[in-house]
Amino acid sequence: MKRICFFLLMLGLLSGCAAPAAQSEPAQAQFFSMDTVMSVRVYDGPKEDAVQAARQAVEELDGLLSRTNPDSQLSALNAHAGDGSPVALDGRVSELLTFAKSISQLLPGDFDITIAPVMDAWGFTTDQRQVPDPQTLAGALALVDSDKLNMDETASTARLEAAGMEVDLGAVAKGYAAGQAAAAIRETGATSALLDLGGNVTALGRKADGSAWQVGVKDPQDTAQTLCILSMEDQTASTSGGYERYFEEDGVVYHHIIDPETGYPADSGLLSVTVVSADHTLADALSTALFVAGEEEALDFWRSRTDFELVLCTSDGRVVVTQGLEEGMRPTGEDRGYTYEIVRR
Ligand code: ADP
Ligand code: MG
Repeated sequence: MKRICFFLLMLGLLSGCAAPAAQSEPAQAQFFSMDTVMSVRVYDGPKEDAVQAARQAVEELDGLLSRTNPDSQLSALNAHAGDGSPVALDGRVSELLTFAKSISQLLPGDFDITIAPVMDAWGFTTDQRQVPDPQTLAGALALVDSDKLNMDETASTARLEAAGMEVDLGAVAKGYAAGQAAAAIRETGATSALLDLGGNVTALGRKADGSAWQVGVKDPQDTAQTLCILSMEDQTASTSGGYERYFEEDGVVYHHIIDPETGYPADSGLLSVTVVSADHTLADALSTALFVAGEEEALDFWRSRTDFELVLCTSDGRVVVTQGLEEGMRPTGEDRGYTYEIVRR
């Protein structure tokens, strides 16, 4: 993997140094971080510096937020669960924890960042994936309760009340990283960029010709194809689906997005949820939460707010798109039998 990344990086460097005729060629980097492949492309300004700034922002966060890295701040928080001592955190970590806790409280049956013990019971953390026995699962579920994550944002500390509790930021870290990377790119003076942080696509500014970015939403049943193309500007499109990480046992597919009420993979009748928002972290959090929630609750929640739009792919082949995306949306899955519905407020 390292060698491939290096090759792609070299390609990026070469295109970044190209002759004036190729000015609109991006500088780019592809790298592995947060357990997934990411790419950054910058199309204007000090392109190379901007790419490196974005990559550094993401890698710094990976170092702080990884649950599998024993030296991360998240691991420190988890290691002190139940011992009463607040753990000092970098401002970014406490900001993200506070935000993720607020979503856990807003959508309690759907989203909970203290889901870690359940992820472990299923072996999603270690790659020893298995259906847990009911007792193990019940024990893990009993530890899931984000009310027992105590945050002091002013002091930038956090504390987990009960021993055995653990936080997992897998549902929000990439969205937060997208926001930090976008800010790092802007700080260099660049204004036009496209980031793909493993299923979270962020469009910065517009294309060099002044038009909006065109971003494909993957078909969850055939990820080489798209369901639709969206027009985007200064937004993230975050997609969650059972097809991204899963295993099969006795002919049943088990995926990595867990219903915190049952401890089992969510089975809400949705194949994927894409959330488009100018708030990158919100997009990521809600794609996971609304995948668990299902179509009806997701649309009710959408109606209660104005800061995001949705593309839902249902298991009966409907692509449900909220009103705010209608204008720039182009369906691309009709030949595979998908039907398209626009939902209005
Ligand atoms: P991906 O990481 O595949 O892009 P998501 O953003 O939907 O997809 O995040 C899935 C991750 O979120 C899981 O791997 C796990 O770490 C965490 N997670 C799973 N279920 C929940 C849940 N109900 N609430 C909060 N986090 C969850
Ligand atoms: Mg998410």
